[in-house]
Amino acid sequence: MSGEKKKRIVKTIHVNVDKCNGCRACEVACSAFHATPKYSTTNPERSRIRVIREPLRDVFLPVYAGEYTAAECAGRDRYTIDGRSYDECAFCRAACPSRDVFHEPDSGLPLKCDLCESDPPLEKPLCVQWCVNEALVYEEREEWVEAEEPVEELDVGLASLMTRFGRERLADAVARLSRKAEKKA
Ligand code: SF4
Ligand code: SF4
Repeated sequence: MSGEKKKRIVKTIHVNVDKCNGCRACEVACSAFHATPKYSTTNPERSRIRVIREPLRDVFLPVYAGEYTAAECAGRDRYTIDGRSYDECAFCRAACPSRDVFHEPDSGLPLKCDLCESDPPLEKPLCVQWCVNEALVYEEREEWVEAEEPVEELDVGLASLMTRFGRERLADAVARLSRKAEKKA
């Protein structure tokens, strides 16, 4: 069923793999931007961009965190590029339950690139600003897209917790925390 279309600015980051030297400044910048308080710490594990880095094979490939997925893929692919074979999950952007990448290390919640959403907005995402090799280039273009219901960040987080701990344990935990909050009030 086709819905209403609306015009929107599509923001993208063009990744020029040939220019990436694996310095990982982008990971540091992203984790600092999303630290609480902002810029208080750096930890690439919390970054929404990860660089696949295999110096001996001369491979440096930045990958951005995409949508959370509750299940593993049914099919897996292997990639061969210039005679080199890559792991089936190497280029995947999903925060998936079957691997550790793109999960917040303490809570396990999925991480997703938000293009450094902030108020006031940044002129360019921070990873782009820090990539002195210009391997990451910020681009904007206008597109007509289907109007979609916005997905709440809270819903995504709850869905991932439900997958990890099960519906009953999650409901019990919410009820327990509510009782605690009521007592304090
Ligand atoms: S900052 Fe740029 S050159 Fe350095 S790892 Fe990230 S994408 Fe590659
Ligand atoms: S655009 Fe912002 S949120 Fe996305 S990876 Fe770069 S620094 Fe992180």
